[in-house]
Amino acid sequence: MSYLLPTYKRQPISFAKGQGSFLFTADGTPYLDALMGIAVCGLGHCHLRITQALSDQAKTLVHTSNLFGIDWQEKAGEKLCHVAGMDKVFFANSGAEANEAALKMARLFAKKRGQNHARVIVMDHSFHGRTLLTVSATANPVARDGFFTLDDDFVRVPFGDITAIEQALNQYDDICAIMLEPIQGESGVRVADNGFDFLAQVRQVCNTHDLLMILDEVQTGNGRTGKYFAYQHSQIKPDILTTAKGLGNGFPVGACMTSGQANAIFTYGSHGSTYGGTPLACRIVNEVIDTIHDEQLLDNVAKTHKILTGIITDNLAKDNVSIRGKGMMLGVVLPTDRDIDFSSLVDKARDKHRLIINVSGGNIIRLLPALNMNTADTEEMAYRLVNLIKAQL
Ligand SMILES: *Cc1c(COP(=O)(O)O)cnc(C)c1O
Repeated sequence: MSYLLPTYKRQPISFAKGQGSFLFTADGTPYLDALMGIAVCGLGHCHLRITQALSDQAKTLVHTSNLFGIDWQEKAGEKLCHVAGMDKVFFANSGAEANEAALKMARLFAKKRGQNHARVIVMDHSFHGRTLLTVSATANPVARDGFFTLDDDFVRVPFGDITAIEQALNQYDDICAIMLEPIQGESGVRVADNGFDFLAQVRQVCNTHDLLMILDEVQTGNGRTGKYFAYQHSQIKPDILTTAKGLGNGFPVGACMTSGQANAIFTYGSHGSTYGGTPLACRIVNEVIDTIHDEQLLDNVAKTHKILTGIITDNLAKDNVSIRGKGMMLGVVLPTDRDIDFSSLVDKARDKHRLIINVSGGNIIRLLPALNMNTADTEEMAYRLVNLIKAQL
Protein backbone atom coordinates (compact mmCIF):
# COMPACT_ATOMS: atom_id res chain seq x y z
CA MET A 1 0.00 0.00 0.00
CA SER A 2 1.31 3.43 -0.89
CA TYR A 3 0.52 6.60 1.00
CA LEU A 4 0.91 8.64 -2.18
CA LEU A 5 -2.18 9.97 -3.87
CA PRO A 6 -2.61 8.08 -7.14
CA THR A 7 -1.99 11.02 -9.50
CA TYR A 8 0.58 9.05 -11.50
CA LYS A 9 0.53 5.58 -13.00
CA ARG A 10 4.11 4.63 -12.20
CA GLN A 11 6.33 2.13 -13.97
CA PRO A 12 7.30 -0.89 -11.84
CA ILE A 13 10.89 0.23 -11.42
CA SER A 14 12.80 2.78 -9.39
CA PHE A 15 16.35 3.99 -9.66
CA ALA A 16 18.98 4.35 -6.99
CA LYS A 17 21.63 6.29 -8.87
CA GLY A 18 22.19 8.29 -12.03
CA GLN A 19 25.32 9.19 -13.93
CA GLY A 20 25.39 11.01 -17.27
CA SER A 21 22.95 9.31 -19.64
CA PHE A 22 22.55 6.23 -17.43
CA LEU A 23 20.23 5.34 -14.57
CA PHE A 24 21.01 2.43 -12.23
CA THR A 25 18.66 0.28 -10.17
CA ALA A 26 19.71 -0.64 -6.63
CA ASP A 27 21.30 -3.87 -7.91
CA GLY A 28 23.44 -1.84 -10.32
CA THR A 29 21.66 -2.64 -13.60
CA PRO A 30 22.26 0.27 -16.01
CA TYR A 31 19.50 1.78 -18.16
CA LEU A 32 20.20 4.16 -21.02
CA ASP A 33 18.01 7.21 -20.46
CA ALA A 34 16.38 8.86 -23.48
CA LEU A 35 13.93 10.80 -21.29
CA MET A 36 16.17 12.57 -18.72
CA GLY A 37 13.45 13.17 -16.15
CA ILE A 38 11.21 14.57 -18.93
CA ALA A 39 13.66 17.01 -20.54
CA VAL A 40 14.93 18.18 -17.17
CA CYS A 41 18.44 16.77 -16.75
CA GLY A 42 19.87 18.19 -19.96
CA LEU A 43 23.43 17.99 -18.63
CA GLY A 44 22.95 14.34 -17.68
CA HIS A 45 22.32 12.92 -14.24
CA CYS A 46 24.50 14.26 -11.43
CA HIS A 47 26.76 16.43 -13.58
CA LEU A 48 29.83 17.11 -11.44
CA ARG A 49 29.69 20.89 -11.87
CA ILE A 50 26.04 21.06 -10.84
CA THR A 51 26.58 18.69 -7.92
CA GLN A 52 29.48 20.84 -6.73
CA ALA A 53 27.60 24.12 -7.11
CA LEU A 54 24.65 22.59 -5.26
CA SER A 55 26.70 21.32 -2.34
CA ASP A 56 28.90 24.45 -2.12
CA GLN A 57 25.88 26.73 -2.01
CA ALA A 58 24.00 24.43 0.38
CA LYS A 59 26.88 24.92 2.81
CA THR A 60 26.93 28.70 2.27
CA LEU A 61 23.40 30.10 1.99
CA VAL A 62 20.18 28.41 0.89
CA HIS A 63 17.38 30.94 1.34
CA THR A 64 16.81 34.46 2.57
CA SER A 65 13.56 35.45 0.77
CA ASN A 66 12.99 38.14 -1.81
CA LEU A 67 12.79 40.79 0.89
CA PHE A 68 16.56 41.09 0.44
CA GLY A 69 18.98 41.48 -2.41
CA ILE A 70 20.13 38.10 -3.75
CA ASP A 71 23.45 38.28 -5.59
CA TRP A 72 23.05 34.92 -7.30
CA GLN A 73 19.58 35.92 -8.50
CA GLU A 74 20.98 39.12 -10.04
CA LYS A 75 23.74 37.10 -11.72
CA ALA A 76 21.40 34.37 -12.93
CA GLY A 77 18.96 37.01 -14.19
CA GLU A 78 21.61 38.75 -16.24
CA LYS A 79 23.00 35.52 -17.63
CA LEU A 80 19.61 34.06 -18.51
CA CYS A 81 18.30 37.24 -20.12
CA HIS A 82 21.53 37.47 -22.10
CA VAL A 83 21.30 33.96 -23.59
CA ALA A 84 17.52 34.30 -24.04
CA GLY A 85 17.66 37.69 -25.76
CA MET A 86 15.20 39.09 -23.20
CA ASP A 87 15.33 42.10 -20.84
CA LYS A 88 13.91 41.13 -17.43
CA VAL A 89 13.08 38.00 -15.48
CA PHE A 90 10.91 36.77 -12.61
CA PHE A 91 12.16 33.54 -11.02
CA ALA A 92 9.59 30.91 -10.08
CA ASN A 93 9.86 27.26 -9.06
CA SER A 94 8.31 25.34 -11.93
CA GLY A 95 7.03 25.56 -15.47
CA ALA A 96 3.43 26.00 -14.39
CA GLU A 97 4.43 28.87 -12.10
CA ALA A 98 6.42 30.55 -14.85
CA ASN A 99 3.38 30.29 -17.14
CA GLU A 100 1.03 31.43 -14.38
CA ALA A 101 3.18 34.57 -14.08
CA ALA A 102 3.04 35.06 -17.86
CA LEU A 103 -0.75 34.72 -17.95
CA LYS A 104 -1.25 36.99 -14.96
CA MET A 105 0.97 39.51 -16.73
CA ALA A 106 -1.19 39.31 -19.85
CA ARG A 107 -4.32 39.93 -17.76
CA LEU A 108 -2.75 42.89 -15.99
CA PHE A 109 -1.67 44.27 -19.37
CA ALA A 110 -5.31 44.08 -20.49
CA LYS A 111 -6.54 45.72 -17.30
CA LYS A 112 -4.00 48.53 -17.56
CA ARG A 113 -5.19 49.39 -21.06
CA GLY A 114 -8.79 49.53 -19.89
CA GLN A 115 -10.22 46.11 -20.71
CA ASN A 116 -12.88 44.64 -18.43
CA HIS A 117 -12.14 41.09 -19.37
CA ALA A 118 -9.04 39.39 -20.77
CA ARG A 119 -8.90 36.42 -23.11
CA VAL A 120 -5.80 34.59 -24.34
CA ILE A 121 -5.55 32.63 -27.59
CA VAL A 122 -4.04 29.15 -27.03
CA MET A 123 -3.44 26.16 -29.29
CA ASP A 124 -4.97 22.73 -29.78
CA HIS A 125 -2.78 20.06 -28.14
CA SER A 126 -1.09 22.65 -25.91
CA PHE A 127 0.35 21.87 -22.50
CA HIS A 128 1.08 24.73 -20.12
CA GLY A 129 0.88 23.22 -16.62
CA ARG A 130 -1.46 22.20 -13.81
CA THR A 131 -2.36 25.33 -11.87
CA LEU A 132 -5.93 26.45 -12.53
CA LEU A 133 -4.97 29.19 -14.97
CA THR A 134 -2.37 27.08 -16.80
CA VAL A 135 -4.54 23.97 -16.93
CA SER A 136 -7.27 26.17 -18.42
CA ALA A 137 -4.72 27.08 -21.11
CA THR A 138 -3.90 23.38 -21.58
CA ALA A 139 -5.76 21.34 -24.20
CA ASN A 140 -5.59 17.80 -22.81
CA PRO A 141 -9.05 16.83 -21.48
CA VAL A 142 -7.52 14.41 -18.96
CA ALA A 143 -5.77 17.34 -17.26
CA ARG A 144 -8.82 19.65 -17.53
CA ASP A 145 -11.85 17.52 -16.79
CA GLY A 146 -13.79 18.36 -13.66
CA PHE A 147 -11.84 21.42 -12.60
CA PHE A 148 -14.27 24.14 -13.73
CA THR A 149 -11.56 25.48 -16.02
CA LEU A 150 -11.68 29.18 -16.88
CA ASP A 151 -13.05 28.63 -20.35
CA ASP A 152 -14.23 32.22 -20.88
CA ASP A 153 -10.65 33.37 -20.49
CA PHE A 154 -9.19 31.38 -23.37
CA VAL A 155 -9.98 30.71 -27.00
CA ARG A 156 -8.42 27.68 -28.67
CA VAL A 157 -7.27 27.46 -32.28
CA PRO A 158 -5.50 24.74 -34.33
CA PHE A 159 -1.69 24.89 -33.92
CA GLY A 160 -0.27 26.52 -37.04
CA ASP A 161 -3.55 28.06 -38.23
CA ILE A 162 -3.09 31.82 -38.51
CA THR A 163 -6.51 32.21 -40.18
CA ALA A 164 -8.19 30.72 -37.12
CA ILE A 165 -6.33 33.27 -35.00
CA GLU A 166 -7.60 36.10 -37.19
CA GLN A 167 -11.14 34.71 -36.94
CA ALA A 168 -10.87 34.60 -33.14
CA LEU A 169 -9.76 38.24 -33.20
CA ASN A 170 -12.82 39.13 -35.26
CA GLN A 171 -15.08 37.24 -32.90
CA TYR A 172 -13.75 38.60 -29.58
CA ASP A 173 -12.73 42.15 -28.70
CA ASP A 174 -11.07 41.24 -25.40
CA ILE A 175 -8.07 39.21 -26.58
CA CYS A 176 -4.82 40.39 -25.00
CA ALA A 177 -2.26 37.71 -25.83
CA ILE A 178 -1.39 34.62 -27.85
CA MET A 179 0.36 31.80 -26.00
CA LEU A 180 2.07 28.83 -27.63
CA GLU A 181 4.91 26.33 -27.49
CA PRO A 182 7.36 26.59 -30.42
CA ILE A 183 7.28 22.78 -30.54
CA GLN A 184 4.53 21.07 -28.56
CA GLY A 185 6.17 18.59 -26.21
CA GLU A 186 3.65 16.76 -24.07
CA SER A 187 1.23 16.07 -26.91
CA GLY A 188 3.89 14.29 -29.00
CA VAL A 189 6.62 16.63 -30.29
CA ARG A 190 4.32 18.48 -32.68
CA VAL A 191 5.73 21.05 -35.05
CA ALA A 192 3.31 23.42 -36.83
CA ASP A 193 2.78 22.42 -40.49
CA ASN A 194 4.43 25.63 -41.58
CA GLY A 195 7.19 25.09 -39.04
CA PHE A 196 8.70 28.17 -37.49
CA ASP A 197 7.08 30.46 -40.09
CA PHE A 198 4.07 30.21 -37.80
CA LEU A 199 6.01 32.06 -35.10
CA ALA A 200 6.60 34.93 -37.52
CA GLN A 201 2.91 34.97 -38.45
CA VAL A 202 1.89 35.08 -34.78
CA ARG A 203 4.39 37.88 -34.16
CA GLN A 204 2.89 39.84 -37.05
CA VAL A 205 -0.66 39.44 -35.76
CA CYS A 206 0.47 40.44 -32.24
CA ASN A 207 2.08 43.58 -33.63
CA THR A 208 -0.98 44.50 -35.69
CA HIS A 209 -3.46 43.98 -32.84
CA ASP A 210 -1.19 45.03 -29.96
CA LEU A 211 -1.26 41.63 -28.29
CA LEU A 212 1.43 40.07 -26.14
CA MET A 213 3.17 37.09 -27.69
CA ILE A 214 3.89 34.52 -24.98
CA LEU A 215 6.20 31.62 -25.81
CA ASP A 216 6.16 28.66 -23.46
CA GLU A 217 9.69 27.26 -23.70
CA VAL A 218 9.47 25.25 -20.51
CA GLN A 219 10.44 22.18 -22.51
CA THR A 220 12.07 23.58 -25.67
CA GLY A 221 14.39 25.93 -23.77
CA ASN A 222 17.88 25.64 -22.30
CA GLY A 223 19.54 24.18 -25.38
CA ARG A 224 17.08 21.36 -25.98
CA THR A 225 16.50 22.16 -29.68
CA GLY A 226 20.07 23.19 -30.50
CA LYS A 227 19.58 26.93 -29.85
CA TYR A 228 19.45 28.27 -26.34
CA PHE A 229 15.75 28.90 -26.88
CA ALA A 230 13.80 27.38 -29.77
CA TYR A 231 12.44 30.73 -30.95
CA GLN A 232 16.04 31.66 -31.82
CA HIS A 233 15.69 29.38 -34.85
CA SER A 234 13.36 32.12 -36.14
CA GLN A 235 13.82 35.86 -36.69
CA ILE A 236 11.23 37.00 -34.15
CA LYS A 237 11.24 37.78 -30.46
CA PRO A 238 8.39 37.14 -28.00
CA ASP A 239 7.16 39.69 -25.45
CA ILE A 240 7.09 37.05 -22.74
CA LEU A 241 9.21 33.89 -22.65
CA THR A 242 8.86 31.19 -20.01
CA THR A 243 11.13 28.30 -19.17
CA ALA A 244 11.82 25.72 -16.46
CA LYS A 245 12.68 22.02 -16.99
CA GLY A 246 16.32 22.13 -18.17
CA LEU A 247 17.02 25.39 -16.35
CA GLY A 248 18.01 23.70 -13.08
CA ASN A 249 19.10 20.26 -14.34
CA GLY A 250 16.75 18.74 -11.76
CA PHE A 251 16.69 21.49 -9.18
CA PRO A 252 13.18 23.02 -9.28
CA VAL A 253 13.34 26.46 -10.86
CA GLY A 254 11.34 28.34 -13.49
CA ALA A 255 11.58 31.73 -15.13
CA CYS A 256 9.23 34.20 -16.77
CA MET A 257 11.14 36.67 -18.95
CA THR A 258 9.96 39.84 -20.63
CA SER A 259 11.07 42.19 -23.37
CA GLY A 260 9.96 45.63 -24.59
CA GLN A 261 6.54 46.78 -23.41
CA ALA A 262 6.12 43.69 -21.21
CA ASN A 263 9.00 44.83 -18.95
CA ALA A 264 6.79 47.40 -17.25
CA ILE A 265 3.61 45.39 -16.57
CA PHE A 266 4.55 43.96 -13.17
CA THR A 267 5.42 46.52 -10.52
CA TYR A 268 5.98 46.33 -6.74
CA GLY A 269 3.54 43.86 -5.25
CA SER A 270 2.14 42.60 -8.59
CA HIS A 271 3.50 39.13 -8.13
CA GLY A 272 5.69 37.18 -5.77
CA SER A 273 7.02 33.87 -4.54
CA THR A 274 8.54 32.87 -1.22
CA TYR A 275 10.92 30.38 -2.80
CA GLY A 276 11.36 31.94 -6.25
CA GLY A 277 15.00 32.63 -7.06
CA THR A 278 16.74 31.43 -3.90
CA PRO A 279 20.53 31.72 -3.75
CA LEU A 280 20.66 27.94 -4.15
CA ALA A 281 18.38 27.79 -7.21
CA CYS A 282 20.09 30.73 -8.88
CA ARG A 283 23.61 29.47 -8.22
CA ILE A 284 22.54 26.33 -10.12
CA VAL A 285 20.99 28.32 -12.96
CA ASN A 286 24.32 30.15 -13.31
CA GLU A 287 26.19 26.87 -13.38
CA VAL A 288 23.81 25.29 -15.92
CA ILE A 289 24.17 28.23 -18.31
CA ASP A 290 27.97 28.31 -17.89
CA THR A 291 28.20 24.56 -18.46
CA ILE A 292 26.10 24.71 -21.65
CA HIS A 293 28.50 27.39 -22.85
CA ASP A 294 31.79 25.84 -21.70
CA GLU A 295 30.97 22.37 -23.00
CA GLN A 296 29.68 23.82 -26.31
CA LEU A 297 26.50 21.81 -25.91
CA LEU A 298 24.55 23.57 -28.65
CA ASP A 299 27.15 22.23 -31.10
CA ASN A 300 26.98 18.83 -29.47
CA VAL A 301 23.20 18.77 -29.87
CA ALA A 302 23.61 19.36 -33.62
CA LYS A 303 26.12 16.49 -33.75
CA THR A 304 24.11 13.97 -31.73
CA HIS A 305 20.94 14.97 -33.61
CA LYS A 306 22.64 13.93 -36.86
CA ILE A 307 23.86 10.63 -35.44
CA LEU A 308 20.57 9.67 -33.81
CA THR A 309 18.28 10.67 -36.68
CA GLY A 310 20.75 9.27 -39.25
CA ILE A 311 20.80 5.78 -37.76
CA ILE A 312 17.04 5.68 -37.23
CA THR A 313 16.32 6.93 -40.75
CA ASP A 314 18.86 4.58 -42.38
CA ASN A 315 17.37 1.58 -40.66
CA LEU A 316 13.68 2.39 -40.48
CA ALA A 317 12.66 4.87 -43.19
CA LYS A 318 11.72 1.99 -45.49
CA ASP A 319 9.34 0.79 -42.77
CA ASN A 320 7.53 4.12 -42.80
CA VAL A 321 9.11 5.37 -39.57
CA SER A 322 9.77 9.11 -39.61
CA ILE A 323 11.23 11.65 -37.19
CA ARG A 324 10.05 15.12 -36.23
CA GLY A 325 11.26 17.79 -33.84
CA LYS A 326 14.55 19.61 -33.47
CA GLY A 327 17.88 18.96 -31.79
CA MET A 328 17.46 16.60 -28.84
CA MET A 329 13.67 16.98 -28.77
CA LEU A 330 12.54 14.28 -31.17
CA GLY A 331 9.39 12.37 -31.96
CA VAL A 332 9.84 9.04 -33.71
CA VAL A 333 6.57 8.59 -35.58
CA LEU A 334 5.62 4.93 -35.86
CA PRO A 335 3.32 3.67 -38.61
CA THR A 336 -0.27 3.12 -37.51
CA ASP A 337 -1.06 0.64 -40.30
CA ARG A 338 0.87 -2.20 -38.63
CA ASP A 339 -0.21 -4.18 -35.63
CA ILE A 340 1.97 -2.33 -33.11
CA ASP A 341 0.92 -2.39 -29.46
CA PHE A 342 1.88 1.20 -28.59
CA SER A 343 0.80 0.83 -24.97
CA SER A 344 3.49 -1.78 -24.27
CA LEU A 345 6.40 0.05 -25.95
CA VAL A 346 7.69 1.78 -22.83
CA ASP A 347 7.76 -1.53 -20.91
CA LYS A 348 9.41 -3.40 -23.77
CA ALA A 349 12.07 -0.71 -24.22
CA ARG A 350 12.85 -0.81 -20.51
CA ASP A 351 12.72 -4.55 -19.88
CA LYS A 352 14.14 -5.89 -23.15
CA HIS A 353 16.46 -3.10 -24.25
CA ARG A 354 17.34 -1.33 -20.98
CA LEU A 355 16.19 1.88 -22.59
CA ILE A 356 14.04 4.57 -20.95
CA ILE A 357 11.62 6.24 -23.38
CA ASN A 358 8.27 7.97 -23.34
CA VAL A 359 5.38 7.43 -25.72
CA SER A 360 3.05 10.37 -26.27
CA GLY A 361 0.37 11.31 -28.73
CA GLY A 362 -0.41 7.60 -29.29
CA ASN A 363 2.20 6.45 -31.80
CA ILE A 364 5.08 8.82 -31.07
CA ILE A 365 8.23 7.75 -29.21
CA ARG A 366 9.35 10.94 -27.53
CA LEU A 367 13.11 11.29 -27.11
CA LEU A 368 14.60 13.91 -24.79
CA PRO A 369 18.17 12.71 -24.30
CA ALA A 370 20.94 14.59 -22.51
CA LEU A 371 22.49 17.45 -24.47
CA ASN A 372 26.01 16.21 -23.76
CA MET A 373 25.80 12.61 -24.94
CA ASN A 374 28.99 11.31 -26.49
CA THR A 375 29.05 9.57 -29.86
CA ALA A 376 29.21 6.05 -28.42
CA ASP A 377 26.17 6.52 -26.16
CA THR A 378 24.25 8.24 -28.95
CA GLU A 379 24.89 5.34 -31.32
CA GLU A 380 24.00 2.87 -28.60
CA MET A 381 20.71 4.71 -27.98
CA ALA A 382 19.91 4.76 -31.69
CA TYR A 383 20.55 1.02 -32.13
CA ARG A 384 18.54 0.09 -29.05
CA LEU A 385 15.66 2.10 -30.53
CA VAL A 386 16.05 0.52 -33.94
CA ASN A 387 16.01 -2.97 -32.37
CA LEU A 388 12.98 -2.09 -30.27
CA ILE A 389 11.04 -0.75 -33.25
CA LYS A 390 12.12 -3.53 -35.66
CA ALA A 391 10.83 -6.12 -33.20
CA GLN A 392 7.36 -4.51 -33.38
CA LEU A 393 7.06 -4.28 -37.16
C1 LIG B 1 6.41 20.55 -18.42
C2 LIG B 1 5.76 21.69 -19.05
C3 LIG B 1 5.04 22.65 -18.30
C4 LIG B 1 4.78 22.49 -16.82
O1 LIG B 1 5.95 22.50 -16.07
P1 LIG B 1 5.90 22.04 -14.53
O2 LIG B 1 7.31 22.31 -14.04
O3 LIG B 1 5.53 20.59 -14.53
O4 LIG B 1 4.90 22.86 -13.84
C5 LIG B 1 4.54 23.74 -18.96
N1 LIG B 1 4.71 23.90 -20.28
C6 LIG B 1 5.39 23.02 -21.03
C7 LIG B 1 5.56 23.28 -22.50
C8 LIG B 1 5.93 21.87 -20.45
O5 LIG B 1 6.58 20.98 -21.20
